[in-house]
Amino acid sequence: MEVRSSMCSSGGMMGDIELNELKFKRYQCKECDSKFKGAGKTPTCPSCGSEDVELIE
Ligand SMILES: [Zn+2]
Repeated sequence: MEVRSSMCSSGGMMGDIELNELKFKRYQCKECDSKFKGAGKTPTCPSCGSEDVELIE
């Protein structure tokens, strides 16, 4: 097995902050144009409940 030397040498560093930010993404509803933060595979619009949403940056 190949061992990643960079991970072993810097055991004190954790990348949890970046992982947490990836959980919530910004979406815009195509039905009512409201923007919201959603998580999961199928986020729904909090305003109208539509699943027809678009991922925005
Ligand atoms: Zn909506």
